[in-house]
Amino acid sequence: MQEKFISILGPCSAESVEQVMQTADGIAKNNLKVTYFRAGIWKPRTRPGSFEGVGEKAFPWLQEVKDKYNWQTIVEVASKEQVEKALKAEMDALWIGARTSANPFSMQEIADVLKGVDIPVWIKNPINPDLELWIGAMERIAVASKGLIGLIHRGFSAFRPQTFRNPPTWEIPIEMKQRYPDLPRLLDPSHIAGERSLIPQLLQIGVDLGYKGWMVEVHPNPQNAWSDAKQQLKPEDFATVLENIEWKFKDTEVLEEDEALKKLRASLLDMDKQLLDLLAQRMQISQDIGKFKKNHQITILQTERAKETLKKWLSWASENGFSENFIKKLYEVIHLESIGKQGRKLYE
Ligand code: PEP
Ligand code: MN
Repeated sequence: MQEKFISILGPCSAESVEQVMQTADGIAKNNLKVTYFRAGIWKPRTRPGSFEGVGEKAFPWLQEVKDKYNWQTIVEVASKEQVEKALKAEMDALWIGARTSANPFSMQEIADVLKGVDIPVWIKNPINPDLELWIGAMERIAVASKGLIGLIHRGFSAFRPQTFRNPPTWEIPIEMKQRYPDLPRLLDPSHIAGERSLIPQLLQIGVDLGYKGWMVEVHPNPQNAWSDAKQQLKPEDFATVLENIEWKFKDTEVLEEDEALKKLRASLLDMDKQLLDLLAQRMQISQDIGKFKKNHQITILQTERAKETLKKWLSWASENGFSENFIKKLYEVIHLESIGKQGRKLYE
């Protein structure tokens, strides 16, 4: 089933010709699909002193992979000079890293040198959870280059990452898909996870959400990788991940014909309408309470009451199998809108 997806595979960093070839051999031996073979040769590191990549001497190593397996090659570029070198070395595609897409100056510089060039460019989301910044990075390349443009979702940095190194914040790529339905989106579960055992569950979500494929870091000996050692997978382990995926790849249009699905969709819409009508009635009552508060000089925000109400919601929610997180978010938006109806707009 991997054949139906775009697959970018390869090590986080090119370390030596042996390591690059060993990775490629492992990928081939495990029959993994490769749309592009990746390897970072200039590594943007958060802290100085970490391995910063071997640089352009890795181009011939990638060329060797291409000669042996006929796979296209892709490298990360972060500056005008790096783009020029990658084009000269005849790389087949480029990707823009998360630290670069966050910087409009860098993006403009890269866009300028790609003017009129026909090469695919895959743009990772910026490290900060800012949809407009991602769109801006994409637009700069789109107006300049003549090649295919795609998006890679690699998660967003967090002050204190918990389960994931870069929490996925799915609502951002979902909104991106709604705004630009024709741009192909890939998932980079390696950089979201930061930890290889979390990759399968993320990839499954990607497939469920209709991503067109993935960028996954594979390395023959991940524990000893010079960068991102915790998140890389052996090729054979990635093959196992793929074996366990529950595949979904049909466009909804194909299923639109299905009568049973049509009925289910219609009843969803019906319920949505009922939900909104009920919500409107709730807001009306809020407004009446607002008048009462005003007449009696009572402040609008009653935190104790809000806390009590939320507690009730949470207890009903657990009976209904909802997650605490979902209920808290839902309560928060409804409560803020309610306060708005009482004369203080806090939520737009
Ligand atoms: C990478 O792909 O190795 C990389 C540096 O990714 P990101 O820009 O997502 O951190
Ligand atoms: Mn990496």
